[in-house]
Amino acid sequence: MKEGIHPDYKECKVTCACGNTFMTKSNKEEIRVEVCSACHPFFTGQQKFINRGGRVEKFKTKYHID
Ligand SMILES: [Zn+2]
Repeated sequence: MKEGIHPDYKECKVTCACGNTFMTKSNKEEIRVEVCSACHPFFTGQQKFINRGGRVEKFKTKYHID
């Protein structure tokens, strides 16, 4: 192994605040994000967070995110 030359990328589980999860490659095993391709307005073309009525706030409370 030539550590430090090639990052040790592995399957990474990404968990979004919207509840969506997907796999990607990263040097971490898990990542938590606030927006993803399934809920980000750039991809969806609408503000799902607002329309859903506080789902994100509930998530933040549950997981104690500031
Ligand atoms: Zn999302």
